[in-house]
Amino acid sequence: MKQLILKADREKPLVRRHPWVLSGAVSRVQGDPAVGDSVAVRAAGGEFLAWAAYSPASQIRARVWSWAEAEPVDGDLLRTRLARAITARERLLSPDTSDALRLVHGESDGLPGIIVDRYADVAVLQLLSAGAERWREELAQAVRELTGCACLYERSDADVRALEGLSVRSGVLHGALPAAGVQLREHGLGYGVDVAAGHKTGFYLDQRDNRKRIGELARDRDVLNCFCYTGGFTLNALAGGAASVLSVDSSAGALAQARDNLARNDLDAARAEWLEADVFKQLRVLRDQGRSFDLIVLDPPKFAPTAAFAEKAARGYKDINLLALKLLRPGGLLASFSCSGGVSAELFQKILAGAALDAGADASIVGHFAASADHPVLLSFPEGDYLKGLLVRRG
Ligand code: SAH
Repeated sequence: MKQLILKADREKPLVRRHPWVLSGAVSRVQGDPAVGDSVAVRAAGGEFLAWAAYSPASQIRARVWSWAEAEPVDGDLLRTRLARAITARERLLSPDTSDALRLVHGESDGLPGIIVDRYADVAVLQLLSAGAERWREELAQAVRELTGCACLYERSDADVRALEGLSVRSGVLHGALPAAGVQLREHGLGYGVDVAAGHKTGFYLDQRDNRKRIGELARDRDVLNCFCYTGGFTLNALAGGAASVLSVDSSAGALAQARDNLARNDLDAARAEWLEADVFKQLRVLRDQGRSFDLIVLDPPKFAPTAAFAEKAARGYKDINLLALKLLRPGGLLASFSCSGGVSAELFQKILAGAALDAGADASIVGHFAASADHPVLLSFPEGDYLKGLLVRRG
């Protein structure tokens, strides 16, 4: 029997339904499981805890598929889970809001390491763990049938695959990408999406609600959008009546897509300025130029994938937030995000407090941001709560 026996007193997280078995908790592995095989996870005393996918290369040594001994993983179980995740979204998001959404969000949908995003008639599958990889064929087939999308594209090329000992893989699994490119509509705005080479599966779906909020706050304001990627916050700010939007990103490709996205919509391009630059440097340049803004968005990439990087990440967050607060006019708003799993909401607030202190700015929290509802957070899996943001008003 393939099984993984925990050290004494290490079963508590699993009893509390946390879906990861960390390598340090494992006493021994029996039955010589292959990469991605299902193993029965047992407490030191032998009692059954869960069925999990074995990943010998990863610090996350096994990810739980099922808590019931009578329910080992197979193609049917995965299909049922996928169907449940997809159906749950139907009530979450009106098609008027967007035709792009996350259908499957990994651990929080009971499908560890599995992401499915939908862009109109294109589904994108991302497999991030050894267990997900093991069931690739079954998953692809089920996603194809359950979504009915004309095209299924695989984007299993995220860095985290290396931690699982997996190589990268991407390409069309079914159908063909639309000749005119993949497109989506969100909050009445159209975007082109590069599902083959864009970040994540092509678009930051998690920021959907927050983009709308920024649009609502932008009227008559001079806006600075840092780390703009393909222009999501920029387009919403312009649609919301911003006086001007300066958008900064270091990626020429992202900026080209952003410009293209602006051109797809009936917006005043004269109010938009784009800059290819490093935000850390550009904020200093703007300070030295004496520029100021009414609304600043900071949505940097992940500085801390895990808690081990939190200190270094904290310095990065503090730096950009301090500079942004200095560029804010009195009464101005800073929408500051962190998508670092290794930085808690509490730590993030502390970092901003430190930044405000050093900037000599009175600042208060006037709003909180989180990922959209199609990115659920399982209560027993706080790691799922990676995206956090504060709306801060400078006094
Ligand atoms: N706000 C965006 C997503 C931002 S993703 C949206 O809603 O779609 C983070 C972006 O930061 C990426 O586009 C990446 O190219 C950019 N980036 C990473 N490091 C950077 C740096 N030092 N300076 C400027 N841009 C950077």
